[in-house]
Amino acid sequence: MSDFEESKQIEKLLDVDCPSCGSKLFYSAEHRQISCHHCGYKEDYQRDNTQVVELDLSAALQQLCYFVPEKTDRKVYDCKSCGAKFMVDVEKTRVNCGFCGSENVNLEAFDHKYIQPSGILPFEVPKKKAEDLFQEWVGKGWFHPGKLKTLARLDALHGVYIPFWTFDAETSSDWKGEAGFNYYETVRVKVGDNYQQQQVQKTRWEWRSGHINHFFDDVIVSASTNLDQRFLDRILPFKMDQAVNFDARLMVGWESEIYGVELDNGWKKGNEIINEQLRFMCMQELGGDTQRNLSVKTEKCNETYKHVILPIWLCSYRFNEKIYRFVINGQTGKVHGQKPIAWWKVILVVLIFVLFIASIVWMRESGIFAGD
Ligand SMILES: [Zn+2]
Ligand SMILES: [Zn+2]
Repeated sequence: MSDFEESKQIEKLLDVDCPSCGSKLFYSAEHRQISCHHCGYKEDYQRDNTQVVELDLSAALQQLCYFVPEKTDRKVYDCKSCGAKFMVDVEKTRVNCGFCGSENVNLEAFDHKYIQPSGILPFEVPKKKAEDLFQEWVGKGWFHPGKLKTLARLDALHGVYIPFWTFDAETSSDWKGEAGFNYYETVRVKVGDNYQQQQVQKTRWEWRSGHINHFFDDVIVSASTNLDQRFLDRILPFKMDQAVNFDARLMVGWESEIYGVELDNGWKKGNEIINEQLRFMCMQELGGDTQRNLSVKTEKCNETYKHVILPIWLCSYRFNEKIYRFVINGQTGKVHGQKPIAWWKVILVVLIFVLFIASIVWMRESGIFAGD
């Protein structure tokens, strides 16, 4: 016990007791309400979004330099339901009592961070639905083992509230580059002792330039150390207009994280995403059959950010002793993940294709096609 006496207690805990029976409340994605397991009590969460506003990015980045994070450590959790005491990581948002099974949200975890979440999107995909989505998704696609659908075993499904940065920016880009247009010329070439006519592909290059003004709205960057941006990109978009003011009560019954990617590194990633998209837009303007020497000069202004919490199912399944990861958008149900590839199917399709081409060539050569 002396260990506990020396360490400090977690002070800011969320209190969510059921007003009718005193049990702990939790957020139900199925009912989209804050509910009680015991007596069936339900209450709506606040739909206000007055705090989900854009904040000035450059000011926040400047202030971030002076922020010295408090030393984080383990603290004592004092379970109100059963009186048990145990140590927990201060940065952990969810505290589960191993003795009575009750759970709580550690609000102190958020205080250790410089920026507090302004908005949260509540889960809309309940666990049962997530399982169904997995079954549907795992059976899709051609190049996967036929037994995947029946033998893939769900390993883990974690409904996690993941921290994100979203960025807005006004951009103005000047671009120039060369667009190439392909054309064919007939040339006479000497083959052995004879001359033959042959079609040769040539490219005419043309310099072009232009200007693009574009406003980027809510470019989403993962602030989690557990969720890879490439996985995230494939389950976008989120309906961000449905974000409500941050309310930790929506996290009860769910796993959650505080951000591990600081704002400056988040913006680095966001800036990369914006530049990539701008380059793609310029390529579309440039046109042509092929392109070279494209240069884009961009100026950005009025950059803003928000820190929001979004619902994601982080999952994995087993197949043939291997573990594959997948993620589900907890709001829209969009799924993306890894699947094993049945190489024999890929090779078979390639072989059929090669045979098909070869037979056409053979038929042309042998005069079956009277075209030429
Ligand atoms: Zn109750
Ligand atoms: Zn307890």
